[in-house]
Amino acid sequence: MFKKILIANRGEIACRVIKSAQKMGIKTVAVYSDADKNALHVRMADEAVHIGPPPANQSYILIDKIMDAVKQTGAEAVHPGYGFLSENRLFAEALEAAGVAFIGPPAGAIESMGDKITSKKLAQEAGVTTVPGYMGLIADADEAAKISAQIGYPVMIKASAGGGGKGMRVAWNDDEAREGFKLSKSEAASSFGDDRIFIEKFITQPRHIEIQVLGDKHGNCLWLNERECSIQRRNQKVVEEAPSPFLNPATRKAMGEQAVALAQAVDYCSAGTVEFIVDGERNFYFLEMNTRLQVEHPVTELITGIDLVEQMIRVADGEKLAMTQDDIGINGWAIENRLYAEDPYRGFLPSIGRLSRYRPPVEESTPEYVVRNDTGVYEGGEISMYYDPMIAKLCTWAPTREAAIEVMRNALDGFEVEGIGHNLPFLSAVMDHEKFTSGEMTTAFIEEEFPDGFDGVELPTAALKRIAASAAAMYRVAEIRRARVSGRMDNHERKVGRDWVVSLQGQNFPLTIDADKDGSTVTFADGTVHRVASDWTPGDLLATLEVDGETLVLKVEPISAGYRMRSRGADLKVRVRSPRNAELAGLMLEKLPPDTSKMLLCPMPGLIIALEVAEGDEVQDGQALCTVEAMKMENVLRAEKKGIVSKITCKVGDSLAVDEIIMEFE
Ligand code: ADP
Ligand code: ADP
Ligand code: MG
Repeated sequence: MFKKILIANRGEIACRVIKSAQKMGIKTVAVYSDADKNALHVRMADEAVHIGPPPANQSYILIDKIMDAVKQTGAEAVHPGYGFLSENRLFAEALEAAGVAFIGPPAGAIESMGDKITSKKLAQEAGVTTVPGYMGLIADADEAAKISAQIGYPVMIKASAGGGGKGMRVAWNDDEAREGFKLSKSEAASSFGDDRIFIEKFITQPRHIEIQVLGDKHGNCLWLNERECSIQRRNQKVVEEAPSPFLNPATRKAMGEQAVALAQAVDYCSAGTVEFIVDGERNFYFLEMNTRLQVEHPVTELITGIDLVEQMIRVADGEKLAMTQDDIGINGWAIENRLYAEDPYRGFLPSIGRLSRYRPPVEESTPEYVVRNDTGVYEGGEISMYYDPMIAKLCTWAPTREAAIEVMRNALDGFEVEGIGHNLPFLSAVMDHEKFTSGEMTTAFIEEEFPDGFDGVELPTAALKRIAASAAAMYRVAEIRRARVSGRMDNHERKVGRDWVVSLQGQNFPLTIDADKDGSTVTFADGTVHRVASDWTPGDLLATLEVDGETLVLKVEPISAGYRMRSRGADLKVRVRSPRNAELAGLMLEKLPPDTSKMLLCPMPGLIIALEVAEGDEVQDGQALCTVEAMKMENVLRAEKKGIVSKITCKVGDSLAVDEIIMEFE
């Protein structure tokens, strides 16, 4: 077995690989850019080599820099993680030439699967079902429309070199086909330097279901069941699970066998994934093969008990797989939620900054349930704008899907993240969504269910009252403490009133509290009574309460006259006031936010990479004004209405904070 391996990656996946290596007694080498000097993967590894400035194209994806680090440390093998160099044929070849093992598939397999047209042809030859379509060269937009009509609308127009959801358009008629062809072609040329386009049928009611494969260098190849990845935004996955609630054993077996047939057609060894799109009738069609460890591999590990990273390392060292297809079963159900540093309240745009608080739930492994959190960050660490906004993958396992979802809900409740925008409340909302719990989701789930984005779920009155009762009981405790600290009274409890008005989500609840040594009894004006008990003390940011015997977990942040409380998908400003103050508050005018209608504000922290207009220019509705780059995404900001640019307050190359002014209009 190798004595030392290098991990050519960062973040959670670098940490994940280091864990398996350590378990196997293998020494590890991390590489890091200037932005990652203090990163978790650097702290975890036995050695670390600095490879350059923060941008990935000056550090993590420079083959020469990685090769130097390999030579310098004497690593015998390299694990590439996902992203970066993981699907780079030249990197696999450079390692081979240097006599260093690549912990991944052969360069030839990377190459043939890296191109969508080539891989689709190979798949057809291997007897894999592919999406009906046309794979010849398409001359122009008119020909694209003709071919699309022959295939039958709707169609998907795709870049052969595409990836990450880019260079892809759906068209429902000839005009859209012409337009989509032009857009995909130019996007493909600029993003991938390769503008070959093909067209296939757009599968409706689509679900994304993929098969994990694992092969060795002795001709053995297995399928390790499927993962359902239909919950996506911008064609990128957010929630995954294994198995899929949609497959039956026969479809699973058919998909598994086709995936293995394709893998064997390219002499695949190592872990890989064959992605399929599945329609409402369970017809499945090959999409593409990812020749690397996939982000969502933990859910497969949780239901099969196989450590995929360990297997990749063993296979790279020439070992034969120690199991056969008959050994692979499905044990229970696993769910992964990707925690992203992106603000659900701002259209899921990336957010950066210092993690002032980062307390994941406790990882546990019992026969009844498992909580696993793959992470690459720590409290006090910095989320920079240079890399992917994913900061952790929270996974749960339980014997049934229902139980796994319930474990996930509770794990999300206990996950504390502050200092940056993040999608925890959104994930909670998905876990509670009827379409998700019933297992009836398609890839359009987020678009359809959250068409205007996400700004927290609205809670039903019964839930609001439980929170109101808790807030009142907590506020009372805090008031007593304040009275005690000020030391003016000798019997503080008597001075703190019994009557309160709690306001949240636009509703006012007058209520009365009677406290005893075990908790509080809260009586609402309509006569309903709630019993609240907890050991919360003022200052705690996480409150675990018993309300009428049921557990309620709240994230609590003091604000004036109350708390910001987050619970599941809801984010509430809860005010607790005396009846007199509540009356006064009702008379006060809402403070108006400053008028920003004549300004273009930076919607996310990022770098200005292009300014399309100058001072004095007249701009039309929809015209591009500038481009901001953040976390690998280029965002074109457009004029919302016709106007004249009066002032530009930044220049190309400036790093702006969120809400900083870019330009002003007359
Ligand atoms: P990428 O390389 O960008 O991951 P894929 O071909 O894997 O590209 O497609 C990404 C996503 O786009 C899929 O998960 C699916 O949601 C959607 N998609 C791709 N092709 C089709 C199709 N023919 N019909 C419907 N949806 C599709
Ligand atoms: P998968 O198909 O495996 O779910 P995705 O396409 O969702 O993968 O995400 C893979 C992407 O993650 C890569 O293409 C890359 O942009 C990004 N990435 C690369 N390295 C890291 C890392 N260390 N941490 C987080 N994200 C990364
Ligand atoms: Mg894909």
